[in-house]
Amino acid sequence: MSKQPTASLYIVATPIGNLSDMSARAIEVLQEVAIVAAEDTRHSGHLLQHHSINTPMISVHEHNEQQRCETILARLQQGESVALISDAGTPLISDPGYRLVSFVREHDIKVVPIPGCCALITALSASGLPSDSFSFEGFLPPKLGARRQALEGLVGESRTLIFYESPRRLQAMLTDLAEIFGEQRRVCLARELTKLHETIVTKPVIELLDWVASDHNQQKGECVVLVEGIKNQIDASDTEVNRVLGLLLKELPVKKAAAITSSLLDVSKNKAYDMALKLQQK
Ligand code: SAM
Repeated sequence: MSKQPTASLYIVATPIGNLSDMSARAIEVLQEVAIVAAEDTRHSGHLLQHHSINTPMISVHEHNEQQRCETILARLQQGESVALISDAGTPLISDPGYRLVSFVREHDIKVVPIPGCCALITALSASGLPSDSFSFEGFLPPKLGARRQALEGLVGESRTLIFYESPRRLQAMLTDLAEIFGEQRRVCLARELTKLHETIVTKPVIELLDWVASDHNQQKGECVVLVEGIKNQIDASDTEVNRVLGLLLKELPVKKAAAITSSLLDVSKNKAYDMALKLQQK
């Protein structure tokens, strides 16, 4: 693979906890490339050692990615293949690598993905939340005001929302979610995936918050937080339907208010009409 004129940049996914979650292809590629570009060479050294991989490593992280682009391009242009890995999971997913990939692609170098673990997909696959359509939001801003503003911008989202979060901010984030999305919104906490203390719990956010607040162990380790989209919220949408109907009924007849509500929210015309009649009789 190395020393061939058609060298490639391999984007290699690595485990997110359990070292056995490394694909045979990933091991083969890391053994055969000329160099492994790793986010943290000491951290990845353990993984490589575990799989008896002796390939030399160089670091590529947030602070040196720009300058490493030239070094890595030079190696690739000499015919040496390079593999990029991050500390865990798929490189570029809340991890360095985007600048490198776009840079080498601009120079017509082949980029080959070697798929594997990714915390957000692992969490989604076991969460029980709708997986047909979702939005990955990465890490929320750490500061309270910016975080709440970001969440407020997502409140009407009908897709499942996926966040990475630091365990230190988990309780504060769940508090914000309960306030902004409503206490009954279903949320999944996926913690320590593939590890000894793996925990995947989906509950209304208020129950999840109580549980996390009362059990300090739930505030440790790595976590993914998934929030069900608004359309799939049966209870919350009844409240929302009533709220929208209430506003429209001040200005419009029942039939029209029901029709508009039905097209705005995920509710049938018949159901909106029945709910509008009940509201009017109150
Ligand atoms: N590139 C990685 C991926 O493919 O998922 C993500 C890297 S990002 C810097 C690290 C974040 O991913 C953690 O803070 C946590 O939110 C999430 N994460 C990584 N490993 C995890 C695990 N084993 N269990 C739960 N969340 C994890």
